[in-house]
Amino acid sequence: MSKIVSAVLLFVAIVMILLGALFVIAGGTDNMITGGVMILVAIILIFVSYRMEKIKAAQPKLINQTFNVKMEGSGQLTQKQLQCKSCGAPLSDKDLKVISGGIMVSCPYCGTKYALEEAPKW
Ligand SMILES: [Zn+2]
Repeated sequence: MSKIVSAVLLFVAIVMILLGALFVIAGGTDNMITGGVMILVAIILIFVSYRMEKIKAAQPKLINQTFNVKMEGSGQLTQKQLQCKSCGAPLSDKDLKVISGGIMVSCPYCGTKYALEEAPKW
């Protein structure tokens, strides 16, 4: 649809430029003004259709970028393997529960329940 609209806009713009050129060539103050306005409108039409194309072309790229970021984030989370404090068993997201702002871990292997403390990065 957008391609058809921009094609029609471009066609109208080209016709207007040709007509405007004819008016300018024909001479006379009134004809010069009419031709000049027609060419100006044609240039605006081309500019608008060009901008529309650019915006439409840019939108899918932006969506792809956000998807890539999300996928990278989930990949990092799955790579960060949590282990039980008492038995060392690997813990999944199911074993984590957020209770009053803190993360509670309940081990499915040994049944230990404790609050998860984030290890300092330094
Ligand atoms: Zn355990």
